[in-house]
Amino acid sequence: VALAFLLAPRAAERATAQDPNADVEAKIDDWLSRMTLEQKLGQLQQLDADFPSGRLRDDQLALVRAGRLGSTLNGRGAANTNAAQRVALEQSALRIPLLFGFDVIHGYRTVFPVPLAEASSWDTQAAESSAAIAAREARAAGVHWTFAPMVDVTRDPRWGRVVEGAGEDAFLGSSFSAARVRGFQGEDYSRPDRVAATAKHWVAYGGAEAGRDYNTVDTSERRLRELYFPPFRAAVDAGVASFMTSFNEINGVPATANPFVLRDVLRDEWGFDGAVVSDYTSIRELIPHGVAADDADAAQLALNAGTDIEMVSRTIAENGARLVADGRLSETTVDDAVRHVLRLKYRLGLFDEPYVDESREAAVLNDPAHRREARRIAARSMVLLKNDGGALPLPENLRRVAVVGPLADSKEDMLGTWIGDGKAADAVTVRESMEELLGRRNVRYAPGCDAPCAASGGFGNAVAAVRGSQAAVVVLGEPAAWSGEASSRSEIGLPGRQLQLLRAIHATGKPYVVVLMNGRPLTLDWAARRAPAIVEAWYPGTEAGRAVTDVLFGDVNPGGKLPVTFPRNVGQIPIHYDQKPTGRPPDPANKYTSKYLDVDVTPQYPFGHGLSYTTFALSNIGVSPGAIAPDGEVTVSADVRNSGRRAGDEVVQLYVRDEVASVTRPLRALRGFERVTLQPGESRRVTFRLDRDDLGLIDARGDFTVEPGRFRVWVSSSSVGGLEGGFTVEE
Ligand code: BGC
Repeated sequence: VALAFLLAPRAAERATAQDPNADVEAKIDDWLSRMTLEQKLGQLQQLDADFPSGRLRDDQLALVRAGRLGSTLNGRGAANTNAAQRVALEQSALRIPLLFGFDVIHGYRTVFPVPLAEASSWDTQAAESSAAIAAREARAAGVHWTFAPMVDVTRDPRWGRVVEGAGEDAFLGSSFSAARVRGFQGEDYSRPDRVAATAKHWVAYGGAEAGRDYNTVDTSERRLRELYFPPFRAAVDAGVASFMTSFNEINGVPATANPFVLRDVLRDEWGFDGAVVSDYTSIRELIPHGVAADDADAAQLALNAGTDIEMVSRTIAENGARLVADGRLSETTVDDAVRHVLRLKYRLGLFDEPYVDESREAAVLNDPAHRREARRIAARSMVLLKNDGGALPLPENLRRVAVVGPLADSKEDMLGTWIGDGKAADAVTVRESMEELLGRRNVRYAPGCDAPCAASGGFGNAVAAVRGSQAAVVVLGEPAAWSGEASSRSEIGLPGRQLQLLRAIHATGKPYVVVLMNGRPLTLDWAARRAPAIVEAWYPGTEAGRAVTDVLFGDVNPGGKLPVTFPRNVGQIPIHYDQKPTGRPPDPANKYTSKYLDVDVTPQYPFGHGLSYTTFALSNIGVSPGAIAPDGEVTVSADVRNSGRRAGDEVVQLYVRDEVASVTRPLRALRGFERVTLQPGESRRVTFRLDRDDLGLIDARGDFTVEPGRFRVWVSSSSVGGLEGGFTVEE
């Protein structure tokens, strides 16, 4: 045995797998022909390294040595990953490199705005840039593979994970999905500044009933294909390296054991050839789901359905061999899964360059250029929800300002959920940034309460700070931990007594503006009616405070737009802009229409909404040609002019409605957008193209088709109103 071990490496070196010119698939065939079943199962196992340190534990290194661990989660740091890699390459029989995965969601060390915020920029290049920087930092720290982008569409803001995605719309979501995949992976993710990306969570995770995380999803195939699938499809088209399953069931079958989504759609229809990783222990969770009796059952179901890698739980590693021996699992199925893992390792270039250059890490992670870009993107992501009487921007001659509210100086809360290797200590708060700008003695700070704001004390200090100042900046919102995984809420108002705090400040009669930091649409209630100005800042990341002051003082004119609808109350949920028509549209003259007795049917703030410190005018819509064949193309264009006195950005949006079709169609569906920067008085013609993909529907038989008839289009600055035009699709 000892002799065989010594000889093995030399034998391996001669084999195809080591031949740099051999085709990757031939190399994988060669590996598979030489691997034992145990070694194969080892490639399918992923374990969780020690989180704070990023180091693999001794028992995990022993598994690496034995060829029984293919990848890790949370293992990171150039020195840590190189040390573990050395064990794989110098002490294991096969010498297959280890793969290091990590949740690099909106930054690695430099934390960018949360994904929902970046989607509010409607600037896919910004999202691509932030993902590219995150990739650069992560790869320098030994991370090969990120579990991002999260591309789940959701219409339920109670669900805490709305913060991780691009909002409620499949079209906007697809644009951001593709941009993030491009940003993380670049042209070639074997390069030392790129990582492999993961489209997650496949699929319909955002459809959790009642917005309760992990809950049941029962949805039609139409909704899967029209709403939940498109951003995943966009990720596949952009070349995404991997998929992650979701925790939920879909129509009775948990996603991790769902052959319809994993095999029929992902592999057979879409031709995806990358790796599929379970979401954490979702394979073992097939037991509490009630579809597997025990671990062996769970492993069998997941592998046969098409999940390749098991994260954290060990049902495959511990039962795979017996399942094969008992004929419950074919070795070919195991081989297919291993092929996907080895393919990922080849595409990452790990067989050529398994180690990371330890000398680069420190400089890359603290590159000031990354922070500048984080500041720029954070400011671009903010949405001016309301600005009565020009309360914003703050006057240039403002000297004494009160900075109040529980989020005004809370470093931990600036970063949001999933902060990678980010450090709260690096974050700049609004208070700090105001002090940088105005000098310490001109800023009076009082939090009023902590973020949950549960205590019933008075707000005396905050009120006094406001009274003693010329104006106040009130920073309210949710503690960062109130959104993200397992952070659903049944009420989505400002936490605790924050609204009372705001009313106490309002009652002083001093001018004030509100800045919100939160991970989901909120029901703003009184604040939306009475606060003079509201900036939705989301969780802006490391450069939070500076980006907020950039916007408050008008150094950056806000140009973001909501990627999600803000409801008036929880009872309106699900509420989204692309509602289907009913047979009883709202009509004040008719009692029997689709509406509520106790609240308006319209949202507080619609999808696509966002103001600016300047004004824009849209005019001259042109649609040509006026009639097309079903596979033809239409061009829609309009002039957008900056009609105010400051330079600013407008996001011009294109919506479409198929007026009469064989199946009902949304009242409007987003099919184009462009963020343009215009100087005062400047005008630009914005042009969109609509083709078959934009105009088609899934008919009653399940076929994608463009049906003849009249289409309406709107060019607008939100999902409400706009310039209207139309065209006809002819037989
Ligand atoms: C989350 C995933 C994440 C994984 C690994 C799970 O709990 O649902 O989004 O990638 O953990 O951290």
